[in-house]
Amino acid sequence: MSSQGNKVVVIGGGIQGCATAFFLAKRGQKVTLIEKDRIGRHASGVNAGGVRRLGRNILEIPLSLAAMDIWQNLYQEIGEYAEDFHPCFYLKVAVDEAGRELGLMRAANLREAGFTHEVWVEDDVIQTRLPHLSIPTHGGLIVEGDGWATPWRIVQGFANAAKKNGAKIIEDCYVNSLTQSQGLWQIQTLKGLFEAGTVVNCAGAWAADIARSADDYIFPLESFAPMLVVTERRPKILPAVMGVLSHTLSLKQLENGQFVIGGGVRSKANHLINQSDVSLQKLSSSIKLAAKLFSEIGNAQVIRCWSGIEGYMPDELPIIGRGRRNGLFHGFGFSAHGFQLGPGVGEALADLVMGQQPRVSLEAFRPDRFIN
Ligand SMILES: Cc1cc2nc3c(=O)[nH]c(=O)nc-3n(C[C@H](O)[C@H](O)[C@H](O)COP(=O)(O)OP(=O)(O)OC[C@H]3O[C@@H](n4cnc5c(N)ncnc54)[C@H](O)[C@@H]3O)c2cc1C
Repeated sequence: MSSQGNKVVVIGGGIQGCATAFFLAKRGQKVTLIEKDRIGRHASGVNAGGVRRLGRNILEIPLSLAAMDIWQNLYQEIGEYAEDFHPCFYLKVAVDEAGRELGLMRAANLREAGFTHEVWVEDDVIQTRLPHLSIPTHGGLIVEGDGWATPWRIVQGFANAAKKNGAKIIEDCYVNSLTQSQGLWQIQTLKGLFEAGTVVNCAGAWAADIARSADDYIFPLESFAPMLVVTERRPKILPAVMGVLSHTLSLKQLENGQFVIGGGVRSKANHLINQSDVSLQKLSSSIKLAAKLFSEIGNAQVIRCWSGIEGYMPDELPIIGRGRRNGLFHGFGFSAHGFQLGPGVGEALADLVMGQQPRVSLEAFRPDRFIN
């Protein structure tokens, strides 16, 4: 094999690609990260910044806990950028009996599976922790230490830390095709040909196209556009990130007093032309629910809304692992909850590339799970 054989090319400069490049570079690997636009330009830079273990698919919890270990020690990895992570507590309240039943059942299931991070609390505790709440609740699930981060700063932090450790980062560089010849990957881009022994596909909503070009698996990845709104600044009343059991809502208040409201609501996206839509009608249901929780939000003017392009898998679990072709690895399909996982995914992909055992099982995320 030529000297290119031990080089790694990471495709995609979102949180997954930047964290992967960082962990590889930190361990002395020769890494080049190639991004078609700018670092953090897509979902990773425009998301709600929710850093939550709360409410995850049970199969995803070990990876989420591993990622949280890194979040909790982020300063030693990405330096001052880590100041843009704000741990507080994450609370999903029940606003009716159906929500209460769901939450209690989840708490019991998690306890049985040996997870203790989500704790059921009754309304008296919730009212004490959130004195500005406008309604009584039927209890809720809380995770201490979950919180929120300024997403683009964290992505930039990983990119900078990767560079400091010797990684090359090339922006405005579209990868056109990926072919393999004599054990080497040939990566054709707008800025010329790159060669590497290993490629890590972290191309977000575009990743199935990269896989197809490499003659790897055909992935059932679909693009949608999760949406958010931000309000004008209001007095500080919300010290937590919040959701509502059996509803899709994510709600937080930034340090400057602005509320950020979104959640599971999503609109249409066309990744081929870098375009995502916003549906004000769908967003209004999230805003109404947030205003029901805190009447202060009903008084706040919405000043901006946006969406980002996200890749969804049919089971809403990511693809993380080795592809069909030798020297090709995948990390994509995060289905609107991949920001918190990012540092854990980066570490796990670096482990796989280097032939080491990741600290948690990636079995649930096997790339071949949709292949008959
Ligand atoms: C509005 C919104 C709110 C969200 N809220 C949260 C939240 O609160 N918490 C949470 O955990 N998650 C959240 N998410 C989900 C989270 O943002 C994503 O799961 C995560 O950022 C995906 O990261 P990624 O690196 O896989 O993808 P991306 O950030 O999309 O990065 C992929 C990159 O690959 C590049 N690329 C693609 N094709 C090529 C090519 N051919 N050549 C070169 N480069 C290429 C793209 O330009 C892109 O920059 C939210 C998402 C959105 C949109």
